[in-house]
Amino acid sequence: MTTRLLRNFVNGGGVEPPGARTIDVENPSTGEVIARAPLSTAADVAVAVEAAAAAYPAWSRTPAARRVEPLFRLAALLRSHEEPLARQIAEEMGKSLTDAHAEMKRAIENVEVACGMPVLQQGELMVGASFEIDAEVLRLPLGVFAIIAPYNFPAMVPFWFLPTAIATGNTVVLKTSEQVPCTMARVAELCAESGLPAGVLNVVHGDREAAIALASHPKVAGVSFVGSTAVGRQVAELCQRHGKRYQVLGSAKNHLVVMPDANLDDTVRNLVTSCFGCAGQRCMAASAIVPVGEELHRELTRRFVEAAREVPVGNPLDPALAAHPALMGPVISAAARRRIVELCDRALEEGATLALDGRALRPPPGCERGHFLGPTVLTHVRPGSEIHATEVFGPVVVVLRARDFDEALAIVNGHAYGNGASIYTASGHWARRFKLEAEAGMIGVNVGIPAPVAQLPFGGMKASMLSETKAQGTAGIEFFTQRKVVTVRYPAQA
Ligand code: NAD
Repeated sequence: MTTRLLRNFVNGGGVEPPGARTIDVENPSTGEVIARAPLSTAADVAVAVEAAAAAYPAWSRTPAARRVEPLFRLAALLRSHEEPLARQIAEEMGKSLTDAHAEMKRAIENVEVACGMPVLQQGELMVGASFEIDAEVLRLPLGVFAIIAPYNFPAMVPFWFLPTAIATGNTVVLKTSEQVPCTMARVAELCAESGLPAGVLNVVHGDREAAIALASHPKVAGVSFVGSTAVGRQVAELCQRHGKRYQVLGSAKNHLVVMPDANLDDTVRNLVTSCFGCAGQRCMAASAIVPVGEELHRELTRRFVEAAREVPVGNPLDPALAAHPALMGPVISAAARRRIVELCDRALEEGATLALDGRALRPPPGCERGHFLGPTVLTHVRPGSEIHATEVFGPVVVVLRARDFDEALAIVNGHAYGNGASIYTASGHWARRFKLEAEAGMIGVNVGIPAPVAQLPFGGMKASMLSETKAQGTAGIEFFTQRKVVTVRYPAQA
């Protein structure tokens, strides 16, 4: 069987970058190669940027109400193709079909919000800024925007930016993650079907070389990056050097603080979903649990480990398992699996205890070449130790000790990352203190994955977010527009 070769999507059609090297795209559940994607060079990227730059003048002059017409159609197309797109996500990324459908729904939600741009992008008018003078505040697009995406949400993360960038009158070049390029390759075709004019959206496949070329290209006005903080720092530095605006959303280590008055049944159920959904490969996945008080620590750890042991692990496209909402798939690659196992091994050498060991999980039948790990729980973990300080990005959870609320809060706030954090409590007092004092950009109260809906800003604090402007909602509109203030006087005609 010949393997499908993906093409870049430039100027409204598929383009095979001449002579580009390719990368195998693997199904992480089976190890099977499902496609090959071009590794675009700086020259290939430049072709896409030129197409976007050429489309910009006409697109930016198109009235906002006309610009959102293809987006209405795109929302409908994504809805009618949700099933095959969710299956594509499950195949190339390894998350459960339940999670893949949820991802598609959030992507569509972002398109729906952008359809409101004729209202949302309106400027302001000041009548009487001075005698006989009025002032207008215009909200204008900037030009070509680049989106550089991570592997863990093949569709949703590009859609945090793409609809808003386009609806505000900009044009876009998206670089997919080289590990999961298939979903957005298909979405690009649907964008063409929606009637989006050629060049408004362009998709290039590739690795760091293509990303660096985008972040340095003189015709790119701004970059939306989502990925690890280490890479994000390099992208931010490139954007600063080349005078571009940027938004950089980075790594995470999300803490869940549990107070003694929390409802334990609900809390344990919620913790398991938050920690092991998508095999822990969500930027909002919890990976550090902080029960307050010794008695709660003992009881919660026991019940959490018991529940984690029951999480089914398997291939999300196995028909016998596909409908299971709690199904946990593989991690993305052999390299990711190896790194996670090594982090756990070193944590044990540092004195942690294995309360649940998923390292030696036997792969499900037919998945012998897949990258599976079972739920893993480590206790007796010292705050600040490597396994606590590092984003593991796998199904590995550490349980820490805190005597009281203040000690728990100090653990959360002592961490370098501040993406999400949640508290479980029945007390308004503790909830209020937590939401005001916890240093994280997205806070949950009795909610384990406090990921904001598309109407609200998404982004963390501290090393989880290396820029001011968040994704989604009005924050996104802020990023993709610039204000121009016009002061107007028309003297009376003689
Ligand atoms: P990554 O940083 O390895 O890669 C992200 C993107 O950057 C990819 O497209 C990759 O090709 C590109 N890239 C790699 N090296 C580069 C370089 N030197 N210069 C420029 N670009 C480069 O991230 P990943 O492994 O794909 O995704 C997982 C990470 O993403 C995790 O850290 C996770 O927390 C983070 N993430 C964060 C959020 C958030 O909202 N904060 C959301 C999703 C994922």
